[in-house]
Amino acid sequence: MPRLNSPEECAQSPSPFACKARVRASAYRACFSGLAAILCTLGFSCGGAETPGAASPSESGPKRVIVLVIDALNADHLGSYDPRPNKRVDLTPHIDAIAAEGRRFTNAISNNTWTLPSTTSLMTGLLQENHKVTRREGVVPLSADLLPERFQDAGWKTRSFVQMTYASKLYGFDQGFDETSEYGFGGGPGRANMAGEVVQWMEDNADERYFLYLHFRRPHGVYNAPASVRARVTPSCVLAGTQRGAELEASQDFAWMELTDDEKKHVRHLYRANLATVDQTLGPILELARAPETLLVVTSDHGEGLGEHDFYGHGPSVYRENIHIPLIYRGPGVQVGVDQGLASTVDLRPTLMEMCELWEPASIKSDGGSLARRLAGEELPPDAEPVRFSSRYGTGRAPSVGLMTVDATMFVGPLGELHLFGNATDLEQRLDWGAMTDDEGCAPSWLAMLPGLRERQQAYAYLSEAPSGEAPQLTAEDRADLKALGYAGD
Ligand SMILES: [Zn+2]
Repeated sequence: MPRLNSPEECAQSPSPFACKARVRASAYRACFSGLAAILCTLGFSCGGAETPGAASPSESGPKRVIVLVIDALNADHLGSYDPRPNKRVDLTPHIDAIAAEGRRFTNAISNNTWTLPSTTSLMTGLLQENHKVTRREGVVPLSADLLPERFQDAGWKTRSFVQMTYASKLYGFDQGFDETSEYGFGGGPGRANMAGEVVQWMEDNADERYFLYLHFRRPHGVYNAPASVRARVTPSCVLAGTQRGAELEASQDFAWMELTDDEKKHVRHLYRANLATVDQTLGPILELARAPETLLVVTSDHGEGLGEHDFYGHGPSVYRENIHIPLIYRGPGVQVGVDQGLASTVDLRPTLMEMCELWEPASIKSDGGSLARRLAGEELPPDAEPVRFSSRYGTGRAPSVGLMTVDATMFVGPLGELHLFGNATDLEQRLDWGAMTDDEGCAPSWLAMLPGLRERQQAYAYLSEAPSGEAPQLTAEDRADLKALGYAGD
């Protein structure tokens, strides 16, 4: 544990927010030092996935594994996840059916807020600060060991189909795949071609042992769903058919803009129309994924803000809407039901390693843990580690860094300010205890974790100088595509 600043030292600090929080943490530490030590250890030690010993293919486990990533999907928009009593259940029937047939994790988060580091976490089982693929000027280095390489080494067929530049071979994500197909960028075929080609491939390989990675771009912006879907999602939207409506449909430039109430509603409708579109597209793929001995994982790489905290899109923000993702497993070894314990992106790799009895090199130490026993119905012990998350790096300011237990979520923002929310009663994160004074009742056990959180935030400092790997060779078309995705400027 680092030494905490005294109030006098804090008075000279350039960041009054940081200091205020430090003093409070210090005050609480006096009372809760024992607890603090335990919690800090819990929060910042590695997950320690167990390394499976078996090297030969399993005879009892799955013979086919499909990882389906639906980009930028805040789970709360799915009918199966939406906590509101008056929710719509007709927008995502295909994904919801899989949720009902499998095990659905209600508290799954992405460890990062945008595609490149998040996909790297999914593939390596490592957090951003450990895999270091944090900036779009860098690619996944050849030295990285990616999930499909484990399957390939064990003799499985490995195949990917992606619609997202930041999950493409340009960024190093072809490592371990026998073949990759890319859609909608880099001169490849249009995105509309992908689902049909996936279905064809699944039919052709129905008897093979395979690992299949699918990355669909919607509901990621641009929010330009077909008019027929928009009409179904938003039958009476006042901005539909107007010039302003068309502007919002065509661009992502409103990230930090103040929108009117009608505009906010329209953007939400457009996002949900994008989601309904991808659900419709997924129907035939999900049908084939019900084949025997097939393990299907449905998840996302991050969420999406729709003005809940004055921001649209994803990247800089770590509020719940930006990190709450679906996580659904269906197939052999999976008991149907709901798991309310914590889970995060880095758990995927150790889970698949265990379920498929694949050999993991001893040098690979995942930041996550296997969910295999929980998939079989075991409950997470109450003293489970918090899950860790951070925002986009390389925006010219410090990333937000946080952690979440079942009870609460806390993060330190770019100015060093603390945010703290109770999960049980405030899923929308309206009441920020982090901004309140001690006597107003901020949870002491959470403040005790603050020093470790700050330390982790500072660990990012060196990353600003050192993008990983070589710079990707972007064509003008690639750049235009990334700009359309909202990645212009910083
Ligand atoms: Zn993404």
